[in-house]
Amino acid sequence: MRSFDAEVIVLGLGVHGSAAAAALARRGIDVIAIDRFAPGHRRGSSHGRTRMIRRAYPDPVWNDLVLRAFDGWRALEEESGAQLVHRTGGLYAHRGEAQLQGPGCVVVEDPAEMADLMPGLAVPDGYRAVHDPSAGVIEAEQAMAAFHGVAAERGADVRWNTVVDGWDSTGDGVSVRTDAGDLRARRLIVAGGSWMGGLVPELAPLLEVWRILTLTVPADQPIGEPPNLGAFSVDHPDGLVFGVPDAAGNGVKLGIDAGPLWDPETPVEAQTDAETARLQELLGGFVPGLDTTSVESAACLYTMTADRRFIIGPLRRAPQVIVASACSGHGFKFGPAIGEALADIATGVMRDDLAFISTTRREL
Ligand SMILES: Cc1cc2nc3c(=O)[nH]c(=O)nc-3n(C[C@H](O)[C@H](O)[C@H](O)COP(=O)(O)OP(=O)(O)OC[C@H]3O[C@@H](n4cnc5c(N)ncnc54)[C@H](O)[C@@H]3O)c2cc1C
Repeated sequence: MRSFDAEVIVLGLGVHGSAAAAALARRGIDVIAIDRFAPGHRRGSSHGRTRMIRRAYPDPVWNDLVLRAFDGWRALEEESGAQLVHRTGGLYAHRGEAQLQGPGCVVVEDPAEMADLMPGLAVPDGYRAVHDPSAGVIEAEQAMAAFHGVAAERGADVRWNTVVDGWDSTGDGVSVRTDAGDLRARRLIVAGGSWMGGLVPELAPLLEVWRILTLTVPADQPIGEPPNLGAFSVDHPDGLVFGVPDAAGNGVKLGIDAGPLWDPETPVEAQTDAETARLQELLGGFVPGLDTTSVESAACLYTMTADRRFIIGPLRRAPQVIVASACSGHGFKFGPAIGEALADIATGVMRDDLAFISTTRREL
């Protein structure tokens, strides 16, 4: 049998594969990291300047992973010398009972208090909210560059524009077929984003891919900046509306957690004028006083599970293959923590703390 080309192959260099490649390289593990497109491509789920980070989560089971994520971003900031997270505070408004909780988060019922906390946000009448003082904005583009930089500096063999056509588990490892030849490794991490259903067929029934649209208005509008505006979300009949404030000249971004099914093999369609006008109207409604005439529109992909929980861990039929489907519209913030978790699992470290998002939980 041919010798191994690497200890671990990482398939996919979105935020999760990139974080895993960096984590493995930091540990001196021999890793080959592969992506079918070029750095900064806009075909998947990790592109765009910003992402929201928050501690406010629906279930306390997330709290430990959220805290690990915050620690992970701080460590990457020290390592890269770049400021990657801007703390702005967050307000999450909803109808009915509180939907979120978290370390340091408080329920706010008084509209006057909501206005004090976030003067720029127009919370609909009769809504309650959860205030998360630690929420903020991740410099997503810089974060991706930081992970790639660490991985390369620490010796990872990073291969862009290389398509993985498939993989086979062999008794002692994995054989990976690419359009640049076959590779062998002891472990394979599959972090293929919206393509996971094709790369790992047993995941396909559990995943849906949605086309998601965002709108960003230019920077330098004080109403869109902290302390007037922080990270926010508002329950809306069209779906959960989320907003990322202008923390460092990136502009104010708004999107809706809803969209049509999409085939990731088809480049995601740009926004229509009607779609953009809809988002402008929403943004103008939630942040009155913000000039929404000139906008930058974008489209991106969510990979959804029905319960919005991730799927992470080894496969029962091939334990040397570790999958990471961590999206459902909220995966980016966990990048550093998921990268470390994948490196742990690939090097034999048990992560029972991840049972709530494990492959075992889904009998995979
Ligand atoms: C509009 C939008 C807003 C969001 N906002 C937030 C937010 O505010 N906060 C937050 O925490 N999360 C947010 N998310 C979610 C977050 O961005 C995603 O969960 C995360 O980026 C998923 O990363 P990934 O690495 O799993 O997937 P991807 O980034 O899609 O990476 C998968 C990679 O696999 C590669 N690949 C696939 N198939 C192959 C193959 N056969 N061969 C080689 N390479 C392959 C692809 O090229 C791709 O680069 C948002 C997502 C979107 C779309």
